[in-house]
Amino acid sequence: MTTLSGSVVLYNASFEPMGRVSFQHAVKMLVRQVAVVHEQLEERMIGPYQWPVALRLVRYVATKWLYHPAAYTRRGVLARDRHRCAYCGDRAATIDHLLPRSRGGRWTWDNTVAACGRCNERKGSRTPAEAGMRLRFDPWQPTRAQVAAWA
Ligand SMILES: [Zn+2]
Repeated sequence: MTTLSGSVVLYNASFEPMGRVSFQHAVKMLVRQVAVVHEQLEERMIGPYQWPVALRLVRYVATKWLYHPAAYTRRGVLARDRHRCAYCGDRAATIDHLLPRSRGGRWTWDNTVAACGRCNERKGSRTPAEAGMRLRFDPWQPTRAQVAAWA
């Protein structure tokens, strides 16, 4: 977990990620005691509080829409796969279609994975099975809450 964005990850009381709030908003939530520090920077305080990297709501908030499937984006696929190639694990900046686009493969969470340029080129317009390339994981459909936590 990083603090690069200057925002704080917010978890529901059920430990599901809900997205991010600004640091300032996070501190207000601590003061109002609606959230507790879930992850903190060591040896750093803000007033009487631990320096929050992630907060957790004290009470569960029903946010059904958060658990709906996220809209598809290429950026989302790279984030889901942590910018690692689905075939070799190297840094990935391209998107590979399992069923190639030239053969009707679609831009969906289930049909796309992050891939490095080398594997993408090697695979070409074949399926992983045809190319004899193994996926390190199966692509999956994230929820809006998961995508929000990556943003
Ligand atoms: Zn690769």
